[in-house]
Amino acid sequence: MLDALLFTKTPSLLTAVYRECLWKVNTNEKIIYLTFDDGPIPEITPFVLDELKKWNAHATFFCIGKNIETNPEIFQRIENEGHNIGNHTYDHLNGWNNKDEEYFENVEKCQSVLTSNCQLPIVNFLFRPPYGKLKPSQYSNLKSRYKLVMWDVLSFDFDLKISEEKVLKNVLENAEAGSIVVMHDSLKAKTKVEFALPKVLEHFTAKGFKFEKL
Ligand SMILES: [Zn+2]
Repeated sequence: MLDALLFTKTPSLLTAVYRECLWKVNTNEKIIYLTFDDGPIPEITPFVLDELKKWNAHATFFCIGKNIETNPEIFQRIENEGHNIGNHTYDHLNGWNNKDEEYFENVEKCQSVLTSNCQLPIVNFLFRPPYGKLKPSQYSNLKSRYKLVMWDVLSFDFDLKISEEKVLKNVLENAEAGSIVVMHDSLKAKTKVEFALPKVLEHFTAKGFKFEKL
């Protein structure tokens, strides 16, 4: 069973087994792919968008369907400002705790919310499983319809037991060319993202990196 939520730097054994997921972009160019899960919400998503704009950076947002329905204007801002958008289920289901049929229904429900709220046609169907957890049956089914996007660098910004400095360090010490970094535009991660994101953008921009969407 896929469980990727344990490591700051995803081990190669896991990426080898689930090799049809995108874990990292194969490039030597100085590009980092920031991703934000669990939004959009008014408490933190606009902050993230403002920071990205300041640094001319783009990112990919894995949105929860019901948050899009509650905050369509923030969702619109994500799209208008040139970021990419992916599916993160309708209400953040854990694949391990749900029957396949319910899980797939929840994914499709989120996809139809995405489709009806996007102004541009969705050209690539991106999906990221909440908690990085999927049963093998869910992995096989979803990979035929979606690009499953995981990560190689986990900031742990959702972890209430670690400091904001540690979150920053996790990203600064592990991100490299082609890295897919996970952060969250969620209430739990808010203070850590407010602290770490501007410093991540500043640090890597000074080193000649660009931030692009997937
Ligand atoms: Zn999530």
